[in-house]
Amino acid sequence: MDTLWTDFVNSEWHDWRGSGRSENRLVLTAWQDAFLDKWKLEAPVPAMGQEIDEMQTFRRHLHRLAAELAAGGSISQTDREWLNTMMAPGLVRRHLDGDEQAMRLFLSPVGNDWRQVMAEVAADFAKTLLEGESLRIRICENADCKWVFYDDTRNRTKRYCDDKMCGNLMKVRRFRARKKAEMKKET
Ligand SMILES: [Zn+2]
Repeated sequence: MDTLWTDFVNSEWHDWRGSGRSENRLVLTAWQDAFLDKWKLEAPVPAMGQEIDEMQTFRRHLHRLAAELAAGGSISQTDREWLNTMMAPGLVRRHLDGDEQAMRLFLSPVGNDWRQVMAEVAADFAKTLLEGESLRIRICENADCKWVFYDDTRNRTKRYCDDKMCGNLMKVRRFRARKKAEMKKET
């Protein structure tokens, strides 16, 4: 499941196949365009140097919180205040939508800059905490990958971001390690 905040945090991409290569996609205009488009947000592209700096600091902090939650930790008072600071510049407009049976209150962002974008990302993360979904936050157990994701399985047993990619790769690695150990024993 892709959410606004995990999508943002995962803009720091690591090659899950283990080449050691990583890519800071946040700085790429193609990523910025696609991200804004996907989440229906507005901000000037390309983002300016100072905005990029702020967003990278923000992303680091968010990644640390995600890692702490994934490890069974909780959010401190300081972290809560930090989230409030990040959400403060993001003003919203409220409106009702849908029919009588399924009416919903929508909050749409007013600003059209990267501060507003960060406020939306922070709010999305905060929402995860409120809905008690923080127990589902995971960081892919493939140490080369580090992808942040939600465990949407019922038993909360998902260990890898993608079973076909990281899951398979780790299975192959375990298999090879076992074979090697067996061969050592035989000789
Ligand atoms: Zn992964």
